[in-house]
Amino acid sequence: MQFVPRKSVDIQLFHERIRIKLFDVKHAGLFPVTGYEHHGTDHGGDSRSITHALCTGLLIGILVFAIVIDIICFFFTILHTPDPTPNGGFTGIPFTEFAGIGTGNSKGTKVFSLVGKITNTGLVEVPMGITLRRIIEEIGGGVKDGKAFKAVQTGGPSGGCIPAKFLDAAVDFDELTRLGSMMGSGGMIVMDEDTCMVNIAKYFLGFLKSESCGKCTPCREGIAQMLSILERISKGEGELEDLNRLENLAELLTEGSLCALGKTAANPILSTLRYFREEYEEHIKNQRCPAKECKGLFLYQIDPETCTGCGICRKNCPVEAITGERKQPHVIDQQICTKCNTCFEKCPFGAINKV
Ligand code: SF4
Ligand code: SF4
Ligand code: SF4
Repeated sequence: MQFVPRKSVDIQLFHERIRIKLFDVKHAGLFPVTGYEHHGTDHGGDSRSITHALCTGLLIGILVFAIVIDIICFFFTILHTPDPTPNGGFTGIPFTEFAGIGTGNSKGTKVFSLVGKITNTGLVEVPMGITLRRIIEEIGGGVKDGKAFKAVQTGGPSGGCIPAKFLDAAVDFDELTRLGSMMGSGGMIVMDEDTCMVNIAKYFLGFLKSESCGKCTPCREGIAQMLSILERISKGEGELEDLNRLENLAELLTEGSLCALGKTAANPILSTLRYFREEYEEHIKNQRCPAKECKGLFLYQIDPETCTGCGICRKNCPVEAITGERKQPHVIDQQICTKCNTCFEKCPFGAINKV
């Protein structure tokens, strides 16, 4: 008896079933042409189906349609584009004048997405070489709620944070790179005095970790390791040696990653370490977050002198951590408080402090 592998039997049965089905369809008069034909040996041959022919026809139709639309769009664009001559460029600014705007290696204008703790947010188009101060203070209307400016992050998630002392730096490709940031996608995130730079670095690393495709080890593992170190530091569990580890990993990432994402992913850490190292050290040495953003490193406390006993915080606390009689100073139970920030936002008398 000849041995027939199980898989081969299954394939033969499958072919047989399709042939019977299509034979039925053909004889029911649904299609005027042959449905399925099997030529050649018992083990194979050419197979053609109506479905196959229909799909091919449909695909060719779509392709032709797309090409025709493309050609129409091309001519439409050409007809409606301003004349790119010295007297009329694409931006409405003559080319000669456009090249006159900007700095040595960065000509023309640049659009930034101005967001964060700033009064006027939105897209702004500015000449290259303009200072950060003019963008933030004149165009953006300054930092929101009268708070002090702390830093601006440029270039998207893998950009760097530039501190207040460089507010008068000219914004162009070379200068941003020299300051440890980049032009990148044109993002510009303004941060005020209440921003924790360790937390900011952690936030961007978290984003970059999810964006890493995982193809090369330095980027895949390096970002994950850096993020876990930052998480430890923001919980007050870091050690000073972690700062060296971060710098070593940053170098590894920059040198060994295959694409720009990995090569620039260390910028948020390197720039915050460069300009705000004392904040990292404060988290590590004193388990204290100066900006009061890292949850484990500060407490909410009610000032008994300011508290009027209105009870608003008690009613809004989601975990019932606040107690107190009406018109009497209230108290927060630190064992129960989850540091959700609700009471801090709701107190109408500013009686709740982060300490
Ligand atoms: S560096 Fe680029 S290629 Fe390598 S893992 Fe990161 S995203 Fe992927
Ligand atoms: S909301 Fe403010 S003033 Fe009112 S009880 Fe709470 S802490 Fe006191
Ligand atoms: S921070 Fe949140 S959990 Fe803590 S006391 Fe205030 S409202 Fe309650």
